Amino acid sequence: MKNSVLRSVFSSFFLFLFFYITPAADQQTITKGWRAGVARVVITPLESIWMAGYGSRDHASEGTLVDLWAKALAIEDAKGKKVVLITTDLLGIPKAMSDRIRNQIAVKYGLTRAQIILSSSHTHTGPVLMDALFDIYPLDVKQVEVVRKYSSDLEKKIVALTGEAISSMVPALLSSQNGVTRFQVNRRNNTEATLTNQTVLNGPNDYSVPVLKVTDTSGNILAVAFGYACHATVLNFYQFSGDYPGFAQIELEKWHPGITAMFFQGAGADQNPLPRRTVPLAQQYGRELAAAVDRVLNEDMVKLEPFISTAYSEINLSFSAPPSKEELMKIEKETTGYQKSWAANQLEFLRRNGSLRTTYPYPVQVWKLGNQTIMALGGEVVVQYSIDLKKLFGPDIFVIGYANDEMAYIPSETILKEGGYEGESSQMVYGMPAKWNSDIELKIMEELKNLAVKTGVKQVAH
Ligand SMILES: [Zn+2]
Repeated sequence: MKNSVLRSVFSSFFLFLFFYITPAADQQTITKGWRAGVARVVITPLESIWMAGYGSRDHASEGTLVDLWAKALAIEDAKGKKVVLITTDLLGIPKAMSDRIRNQIAVKYGLTRAQIILSSSHTHTGPVLMDALFDIYPLDVKQVEVVRKYSSDLEKKIVALTGEAISSMVPALLSSQNGVTRFQVNRRNNTEATLTNQTVLNGPNDYSVPVLKVTDTSGNILAVAFGYACHATVLNFYQFSGDYPGFAQIELEKWHPGITAMFFQGAGADQNPLPRRTVPLAQQYGRELAAAVDRVLNEDMVKLEPFISTAYSEINLSFSAPPSKEELMKIEKETTGYQKSWAANQLEFLRRNGSLRTTYPYPVQVWKLGNQTIMALGGEVVVQYSIDLKKLFGPDIFVIGYANDEMAYIPSETILKEGGYEGESSQMVYGMPAKWNSDIELKIMEELKNLAVKTGVKQVAH
């Protein structure tokens, strides 16, 4: 009798524990979800400065069409793991600057390189940055100083911006989906001058518009990060602007007051917005892209579970056989402009180091936010990478190019064989010693497969 009373007291006690502790634990898993914060800062230069992207410009900037922005989105999962996506209305951030920014973010906020994507829209109406494509711009000492000062201020702004995004995090919901729009044209396989007479446009292309929506827990949009694979080269004049990606961000922020719209460039190295060269065309493409994003925002998007995994590595990509010293001396003597300064710089490198550079540390990165896979690659990545990665990992993945370093074009094996600007001559523009080696595509794809395994991203094909 006594025992059974004790048993019943004990079982009541355990029942009490079960009902009062278990629901509390459940409550915790339900309410502990994403947290997200967003911050923005104007980065339009305050003084006249040389503009990036075209070697043919012959003087510095003349005012501003629309402001340039840097924006940061900080995201934290249920376990407290953070990532930060930084987008900028810039041509591209070179390695030295990117390393300094990411080192500062590591020191100040404890984020590793795997947790940071530092991207650029590739606008061709932004400022030249320190150490970026210096061979193609005829900068005098005064201009170099303006560029140096702007670059140094920009680094500080981006680091501070990251801190602001992290400290403004609030409980949030994340969802993602791909939309579609089609104003970009494969610039290698179509002729710009005769485009209007063409009834069929040649590919390859990727028309996806990846969209990441961040809302507060009541469903109000805080931020939208979106992309497209197409050069931001509608405009080539002397006023600052974010080109079509800038106008797309402006439109979305107009249609959804209070949100921060952020653009990341895709694998658009061989894609141009055509026709081009007028402000109304840049505005038109901006509105087209914004409309594609807005459609996605208004449909059911895939809700992402609050779980982040990340991986980052730098792989040594090899160059093919470089020119000999004699060949370089001949080029230096017989050419002008960027070819001459390229040859002079290679000879100087040779004198100092005894041989030319044979490899380059190329950054690749994978994020998994819930079930959304994001693959970020450095450099001017051609569209074939996006197509092949989607074949391998499914059509819903997001591919970001121009991320963490803009060192050169990244051609596919086919484009490397074909040559032309993206496969060969752009290497001189970027100050590289030679063409990439023929295993470039293989190496990059293999490393992305490795990072996919580390982040739990499944292949849909083998
Ligand atoms: Zn480019």
